[in-house]
Amino acid sequence: MQELVPAHIQLDATGTPYAPAFADCYFSRQDGLAETRHVFLQGNHLPQRWQGREQFVIAETGFGAGLNFLATWQAWQVDPQRCGRLHFISIEKHPITKNTLRELLAAWPELQTFAAELLENYPPLVTGFHRLRLAQGRITLTLCFMDVQAALAELVAKVDAWFLDGFAPARNPAMWALPVMQAIAGLSHTQTTLATFTAASEVRRHLQAAGFRVEKHKGFGKKREMLVASLPADGGVGRIPPWFALPEPVGDRRATIIGGGIAGCQIANALAQRGWQVTLLERHARLAMEASGNRAGVLTPKLTAEPGWGEMFYRQAFLYVVRQIRQLVEDGHDISWAQCGALQLAHEPREAARQQAIRERGLTEDFVRILDAGEAAEVAGIPLPAGASYFPQAGWLNPASLCAALVAHDNIEVRTLTEAQAVPAATVTLLANGREADRFGQSAFLPFMPVMGQTSLAQASDVSARLKIALGHEGYLTPAVEGQHVFGATFVRKVRDAVLDAGADTFNYHQLAQHLPAFAASLGRLESGHAAIRMTTPDRYPVVGALPDVAFFQTAYVDLRHGRLGQAFPAAQYQPGLFMLAGLGARGLVTSGLCAELLAAQLSGEPLPLQASLYGNLHPARFLVRQLKRG
Ligand code: SAM
Repeated sequence: MQELVPAHIQLDATGTPYAPAFADCYFSRQDGLAETRHVFLQGNHLPQRWQGREQFVIAETGFGAGLNFLATWQAWQVDPQRCGRLHFISIEKHPITKNTLRELLAAWPELQTFAAELLENYPPLVTGFHRLRLAQGRITLTLCFMDVQAALAELVAKVDAWFLDGFAPARNPAMWALPVMQAIAGLSHTQTTLATFTAASEVRRHLQAAGFRVEKHKGFGKKREMLVASLPADGGVGRIPPWFALPEPVGDRRATIIGGGIAGCQIANALAQRGWQVTLLERHARLAMEASGNRAGVLTPKLTAEPGWGEMFYRQAFLYVVRQIRQLVEDGHDISWAQCGALQLAHEPREAARQQAIRERGLTEDFVRILDAGEAAEVAGIPLPAGASYFPQAGWLNPASLCAALVAHDNIEVRTLTEAQAVPAATVTLLANGREADRFGQSAFLPFMPVMGQTSLAQASDVSARLKIALGHEGYLTPAVEGQHVFGATFVRKVRDAVLDAGADTFNYHQLAQHLPAFAASLGRLESGHAAIRMTTPDRYPVVGALPDVAFFQTAYVDLRHGRLGQAFPAAQYQPGLFMLAGLGARGLVTSGLCAELLAAQLSGEPLPLQASLYGNLHPARFLVRQLKRG
């Protein structure tokens, strides 16, 4: 996984953006918007084809300046017969920086409202899948900042219309290669159409070799011809091994969720947004009483020296939840949080070495910066003993306030003081029951591991109140929230009951004092914060998805240990209507939003918000599969 290289753009004599690396323009010098409408919308019979449909999926190669996307959004917005939800997936290896994008898009006054919303949500330029919810969640834009071939290999979707918009094939052959067209066919179905501005014979041949029926149409402007194509066969939904096959989407959109912590509330919100009727059962008198019961938790991604799937998951999830919270606040919800930034101290040599490796990766500064002790102290507002990695978009959050905002929806009924004794006989049940995740027979096969964690509170002093950011060392520390700092937490394995304990507060205080002695000495009265059991898993990823039929797995995949080819195995079978989001450890605030989006996407038959590999890494059957592979 490479870090990405942003686009390098010049404006040509006509003011059209031009990429010197490809010696080509981003769109027509004559009229980019008219070209988009002619080639991509009409070429795919849009808007007619999305009319009257519940949802429609468009995928594009080459996001560039987002002109095609914005023109599509506009066409959807003004169409009284538009589909309920529009998914737009766009792949881009060299994304344009936000500032340049803003300048370029100013050329289209009629797209300004859409452009402003896009820019507000545009992610920092880091590799990965970025799911953006726009137009009150009715448009989702999945930006895949990756090379086209790598992105297509990780995409899970059934695409209805393709926009092929790389630079001219002769100068950008990677975008038009045969394996690209084959991957596109593998994400298409018998009604799928495809359009592109080019009529290059190489492109036509590759499309045909991948199984497309190709026609030439009249091109835009000076271009004589363009290509449109359709697939006579069913390609599939992407590359997923049979044991992780997607569950059937559910038609009857009613669900029961067990558990009213951050996981359950995120699922409720993701489903309600899609028109589901949701009943959420919570055994306590209020939501967010257990692992989500902290006064404040820290919202920050997790970076590793080497890029990998774990880091990719955390950063995509982090960026997702930050966008979500900002939108909720903008919609008028009262969420107690601050996007004040966070520092991770280089508190030990290993962490310092890790941060050095991160610095060398050259990640964009609006995502992470590696600071020396002086710079870090300036950002923090207090003296610090070491340098730090700085995440400007991070912050702290009161989980209960986010939970309240998430369930404030007409489609969600919250039943507190209601303890589910068994899995209800509902069409769809989602287990989001934290420390009880393995309580029911249906989920008892999962290898959850309980960890008890306790945070502490300390009254802020004049000195400590200068702390402006959330701070990580071995533990974490928030700026003063309602006059108190939250810090901790302890980490005690194999405990099933959470009990507040003064010894834990002493431990938390000593840990803080070890790294920030003057800060700790200045603090006022200490008290216990919150103690809770956080369920973790052996591989540290949460458990997200359909619960497998264990007996089926054990017979159908028994030959996995012989290393037989994936194709020879039948598709996975699941326990009917039963799904889970659990095992979030101490990071549920960061990860549960994207995980809930993943669940809702599966239940509704939509493109997945993250990569096929991550879908597998989160899948509830992964432990069974690993066991079977080992024999
Ligand atoms: N559709 C865009 C719009 O509406 O503004 C214009 C796209 S521009 C013609 C082509 C885009 O393809 C560029 O943004 C370029 O960075 C991207 N690109 C080139 N090679 C790529 C590759 N191998 N993988 C993914 N994207 C690539």
